[in-house]
Amino acid sequence: MSKRRIHILALGGTIATRPDASGVMQMGAGADDLVAAVPALAGLADIEAETVSRVGSHSLSFDQIHALAAKIAASRADGVIVTQGTDTLEETGFLLDLLLRGDKPVIVTAAMRNPALTSPDGPGNLLAAVRVACDPWIRRHTRSLGVMAVMLDEVYAAADVIKAHPTRLDAFAAPQTGPLAALVEGRVVPLGLPVRDPIDIARNKLGKVAGRAQPVALLWLGLDEPGALLEAMLNAPDRLGYRGAVIGAMGGGHVPERMAGSVARLAAVLPTVVSPRAGGGPLLRHTYGGASAEIELRKAGLIWGGRLHPLKARVLLEACLRAGVSRDTIAEVFDAFG
Ligand code: ASP
Repeated sequence: MSKRRIHILALGGTIATRPDASGVMQMGAGADDLVAAVPALAGLADIEAETVSRVGSHSLSFDQIHALAAKIAASRADGVIVTQGTDTLEETGFLLDLLLRGDKPVIVTAAMRNPALTSPDGPGNLLAAVRVACDPWIRRHTRSLGVMAVMLDEVYAAADVIKAHPTRLDAFAAPQTGPLAALVEGRVVPLGLPVRDPIDIARNKLGKVAGRAQPVALLWLGLDEPGALLEAMLNAPDRLGYRGAVIGAMGGGHVPERMAGSVARLAAVLPTVVSPRAGGGPLLRHTYGGASAEIELRKAGLIWGGRLHPLKARVLLEACLRAGVSRDTIAEVFDAFG
């Protein structure tokens, strides 16, 4: 059988760093360099390498990922690998998942250990990503799998993967669902297919996600939070430039009593999503009473974020706002996530 054509798009990140004269790691390597570092790739696939940018993923923008999605959609390759930094991979992968139709495998990968360290993980992750893109089971289920992240010989759904540690080699995990597949001896061992209904519902309701960037504030609540940032947003006529907000709420969807009024007032003027600060898992809907808990907050107009991690809720809300859909449609989109 002829080899698959795999398009590698390099954005930057640790996987693409090089030491400067003082030994400090700087963005430098392009897609060709990443491919050259893994001679085994040539035996697996026909590789097309393209350097899109040389930036850390902590500095990527929504607009850049929209442009990347257009490039991926236009690619005639049999699969696309995006190499980038690890810092925002859980967000960029999810946005690509919302934007792409799933006609070919799309995989994001990265590196935790830079090329100057002993046993860097970038080359192995890139090799694993290409193996996954070419694998028959993955190709049979491409639409059901959606965009995937491949890190440390595990395959994750973009909607579920999170960066759970800032420095460890095994920094990535999907705590709610586990991985979709593992790589062993170069084989892809299937473990499960993701539940795609919420993503499909989001894509159907949003239609074409085009238009200008829509800044979304993320307010992660902690013990005794006074809510002054919310008040500042409420008092500013332009809401400080934000078009929406995500509240990283406590427990099953709770906020400190002292700021419940501000939260409700914000929901009246901006689409405001409540999302679990625990990092995912379905929220409660009708257990606790009082102004600071789910029953009253939902009545006050807060959009219930379901099981999505707050970072992913923020990505989804930005997409909803960019698509220009109504508040009710935004609530329906999030409702599908539980
Ligand atoms: N700050 C880097 C980035 O996200 C870290 C990494 O690549 O792992 O680009």
